[in-house]
Amino acid sequence: MAADVVIIGAGISGAASAYELAKAGLKVILIDRFGPAAMASGWTLAGVRQSGRHPAELPLAKAAVATWATLAEELDGETGYRRGGNLRLARTPDEVPVIENLVREQRAAGLDLTLLPTNADIRALAPAIAESVLVASHCPSDGSADPATTVESFVQAAERLGVTTRFGERVLRVTVENGRVTGVETDKGHIPAGRVVIAAGIFGNELLKPLGYEVPLQVPMVTVLRSAPVEPVLGQVIGVANADCAGRQETNGRFRVTSGLQTWHGGMQERDGDQGRRPHVMPTGASMAEVVRLFGEVVPAFAQAQIESHWAGLLDMTPDALPVIEGALEPEGLVVAMGFSGHGFCLGPVTGRIIADLVQDRRPDLPIEPFGIRRFASLRNSQEPATLHG
Ligand SMILES: Cc1cc2nc3c(=O)[nH]c(=O)nc-3n(C[C@H](O)[C@H](O)[C@H](O)COP(=O)(O)OP(=O)(O)OC[C@H]3O[C@@H](n4cnc5c(N)ncnc54)[C@H](O)[C@@H]3O)c2cc1C
Repeated sequence: MAADVVIIGAGISGAASAYELAKAGLKVILIDRFGPAAMASGWTLAGVRQSGRHPAELPLAKAAVATWATLAEELDGETGYRRGGNLRLARTPDEVPVIENLVREQRAAGLDLTLLPTNADIRALAPAIAESVLVASHCPSDGSADPATTVESFVQAAERLGVTTRFGERVLRVTVENGRVTGVETDKGHIPAGRVVIAAGIFGNELLKPLGYEVPLQVPMVTVLRSAPVEPVLGQVIGVANADCAGRQETNGRFRVTSGLQTWHGGMQERDGDQGRRPHVMPTGASMAEVVRLFGEVVPAFAQAQIESHWAGLLDMTPDALPVIEGALEPEGLVVAMGFSGHGFCLGPVTGRIIADLVQDRRPDLPIEPFGIRRFASLRNSQEPATLHG
């Protein structure tokens, strides 16, 4: 079976790209080694936020937030999107200027972000926040979504438009002849295609290196705890000034809470379950205890809730914490979308539009110059602090 485009990876980036390309009339094959949302796009907190974004990403995040509002309607599927706002908290006097500066800078960049200067102001909006919290930024147009449901909705909408999905199939390499992409070699055979999109998250470099590219990635771990359903008490996504924890309450009442960046112990198991074979990374007891302590200090109701499930997620962190989104590469026909550095879920619907433009040799209507793959030559030895906070 041949295609115009093969997309490697059915996370939100690849699934949204498949949908957009099928909408444009191209014949698309979407391949995943496991299945939809098997890795970061399933492990995620799934905050949909503009606040705290790097200026280079802000235009994309704003466009994404506008898209999320009507995405469920467009896909004719569920997304669980809720525009409940984002609060970023200062817990100590040292953290107060961090939040004040954030509000100043992002207001100057045109974002509707306000400072809640007292605990009473914060608790008037979010009574579940602890009395010890000092100040907070508030972005009312931020929110969250249900990650697995959203990716599934993209996949189903793409399939209705004719996309072929091949799950449980691993791409071994991108094939090239005379400087042009000719398809992919998988563990089940060769698939001819004139264009290939690599949206393979932390595994992207396995496919890029034989083509002469490498995105310098660090792969830290984030511990995630999910509680049993409890009374709805929290409508906002909560982050903190130094990004050492974040969390929200899902629409089903479950708290979904994450740690900051932790060193990955290197373990990953593959387990069979309802959704087929999936990779699983286990957090340590110490990392889970730390999440309960830190998030429980800012949202005490979380510390009282029963923990129903836990996992760890891995991030594809680039040195400047910005993604690689680039086409017009050699070999001709290669497009890359990876390195989302802990904030690519929100961007997914817009990433899909940009990738569809790049595949069709069109200039995207959003600025992607900061996301070129060649920028790392001068960045190899630096690492921006993480901004993982919903
Ligand atoms: C704990 C955690 C919290 C986060 N919180 C947020 C947040 O609040 N807001 C936000 O916007 N972002 C957040 N992120 C980041 C966000 O989830 C990711 O940036 C985004 O999901 C990346 O999507 P992706 O499609 O690029 O990659 P992935 O979802 O990782 O998808 C890559 C896919 O490629 C497949 N694949 C890899 N190699 C191959 C191969 N050789 N052949 C076939 N298939 C292959 C994998 O199986 C996988 O399904 C968080 C991430 C984590 C882990």
